[in-house]
This record gives sequence, C-alpha cells and structure tokens, in this order.
Amino acid sequence: MSSNSTIPATEALAAQLRGSYGHLEGSALLKALQTSEIGGKIMMTSSFGAEAVVLLDLVAKTDPTIPVIFLDTRRLFGETLRYQRQITDLLGLEDVRIIRPDSGLLENLDPDDMLFTKDTDKCCEIRKVLPLNAGLDKLRSAGFTGWITGRKRFQSGIRSDLDVIEASDDFIKINPLAHWSDADIKEAFLEKNLPPHPLVADGFKSIGCMPCTERTPDGVNDRAGRWAGQGKTECGIHVNIKPTISSIN
Ligand code: SF4
Repeated sequence: MSSNSTIPATEALAAQLRGSYGHLEGSALLKALQTSEIGGKIMMTSSFGAEAVVLLDLVAKTDPTIPVIFLDTRRLFGETLRYQRQITDLLGLEDVRIIRPDSGLLENLDPDDMLFTKDTDKCCEIRKVLPLNAGLDKLRSAGFTGWITGRKRFQSGIRSDLDVIEASDDFIKINPLAHWSDADIKEAFLEKNLPPHPLVADGFKSIGCMPCTERTPDGVNDRAGRWAGQGKTECGIHVNIKPTISSIN
C-alpha cells in the first residue's frame, strides 16, 4: 500500500482535477481526463455485474486499451464469468486483466470455500482486498495513478456524497457515473442496445459472489441483496479497509 506521505499530494491533485473537470460526467469526463496530466495512466476496475457494461462501453469508446481489472474471487456466478468474456469481445476491450486470490492463502484459511458462513469480512479480505491490493501495487509500479470505478450516489450509505473525482490513498478515483440515476442507467442500456447480465432477468439487481448475493425485491435499494441481513454493505475495496493479514503466503 501507499505511504501516508503521498496522500496530501494526491488530494491536492484530485482537488485540482475537480476544479477543471468536476462539472463533467460520463464520457465527457473520461475523454477530458485522458488529455489531462493523468492521461495514459488511468485504469478501471469492473465486476462485470448488473450495470457494469454501461461504464465499460464508455471506457471502450474512450480508449479500448485502458486496462480493465476484473477480480475473480473464485466464488462468482458462472454467468458472470461467461458475461465477462462476452462483453470483452463485444466492446473490443483490449486489456482485461484478471486477478485472483492467492491459492496458498485459500488453502490455509478457506480450504472448504465456506469461510463466508463464519466471517464474511475475513473472506472478503482474502478473496477481494488482498488480491486487489497486490494488483494495485503492480499498477502503481507501472505508473498508473487514475482508477475508474462504477460507483454511483444512488447506491446508498457511504456512497451518497460521492464526487466524480476523489483522492484515495495515492490513486485518483474517477467516478464517471457518480451522479447518474437508476433511470439514466436504464436509458443507456436501451440507447446503446447493451446486453444485460443474464442474472438481471432472474431478479438480481446487484451481483457479486454467489454465496453472498440474493435477488433484490422491487422497492428496496439494489444493493440490499448483497450480504442480506448481515449489516455489511461493502467488501472493503472502496472504503480503505486495511488488511489484517500482513502477507500472502
Ligand atoms: S462476497 Fe462473500 S464469498 Fe465473496 S469474498 Fe466476500 S464473503 Fe467471500
């Protein structure tokens, strides 16, 4: 992870970029940032979940060589894995990088793949936070400083005051859909004829790992089906939860 000494510089850069581009969103924001001081140093993470194709489409049209990081926790739905391959081909994404949890760590700490029944935070840590941190370290070393995410304000809780550009450790997080509504997302699907994740038709509105994702009833927040009934709303990737396991064996 980054050292804390880099954070003020990143916050200053984020504030500067917000001043220049914070009024933009969606495709206009991505295009503007590609010509800014962080242009060419921007990557994206994607779950290839329920709404992911909307942002992936914007990224592919901005620059299909932007690296797209896909975290395969090894507990995803088979539909998600197939959808990832379908969308990659359809949009012509040229640099999708798949990262996975360390197999030794899984063997030691989750040998029967049932850790999610006892400790979801620990499970998310070894299957999501640690592999993503390792992937981010590599991207950092390669000079990447911008991180495109699909987070949106309407998704509740800690996301309700989300900016389109923000500092996060030593990355500049770019949230082109921060101000988009549910209706905006639906309209983009229709307008661009984008194929939905196959589980959406089956009632899933926010799609993560199979054991921790349930169908979301109408009238409640889309993410209510994630870790339903547990009071957990985030996996730790976007909330700067520091790992408690210090190394990957
Ligand atoms: S979402 Fe569930 S299965 Fe996936 S890493 Fe977190 S606790 Fe484990």
